[in-house]
Amino acid sequence: MGIYISRPFLFFKKLKKLKRGSEKLARNNGHHHKNLTEEEMQNIKCPYCGADTVFVDDSIVYGQSFGMIYLCKNYPECDAHVGVHKGTNVPKGRLANKELREYKKVVHSIVDNFWRDGIMTRREFYAWMAKQMQMPEEEAHVAMFDVEQCQKAIRIFEENKELDIPVSALNNMFKKYFAYSKIHYDLLGEYECEFMFKMKNMLAKGITPTKSQQYYSFKCYKMLMARVNQVEYGNAAA
Ligand SMILES: [Zn+2]
Repeated sequence: MGIYISRPFLFFKKLKKLKRGSEKLARNNGHHHKNLTEEEMQNIKCPYCGADTVFVDDSIVYGQSFGMIYLCKNYPECDAHVGVHKGTNVPKGRLANKELREYKKVVHSIVDNFWRDGIMTRREFYAWMAKQMQMPEEEAHVAMFDVEQCQKAIRIFEENKELDIPVSALNNMFKKYFAYSKIHYDLLGEYECEFMFKMKNMLAKGITPTKSQQYYSFKCYKMLMARVNQVEYGNAAA
């Protein structure tokens, strides 16, 4: 019985997902990611050994296919490669070797927290990141970072207490914090909650918290989100 009831629902859910996917693809193809010409593809070189690259399925590297990549012709001696924007032959950034790929993973795990749970949009985050890193917006994408820029991003977003979070994002952060605090009262630290309440009221009066207050607010927020994730999904990651 259950199967007959659940199937139409699943079908529509799947259809919706498919539609979203193709709209996204069309958007990507249409505006931001025009396919490269044959000549442009041939101009993509390995930044480590200077060799040409080949456009191949990534199962060569991963043993399982996830999509197409540009791979250094000297593979496996040099294993630099880069993925492409879905449905195109446009590389997501520069070719990365293992060291750089590891760095990028770390940067993503830090910075994605800023936009993934909705205190700012992805676009807002990247514009803000460009400002914090003092680089042009069109270059401020983790995929385009080299090792040095990754290290800089880690310094700024993980260790630096001088973050200047946009007011709209601060507002969203407090809104989310207190929305979750109503559901997960037992997960709140007393001191944290008091501090957050003070900051929220300050902001409501039009006073922007200092940078170190922002830093601790964000820290309190992240701690609560980590506990909520743990309870709701059994997931230790924030
Ligand atoms: Zn190479």
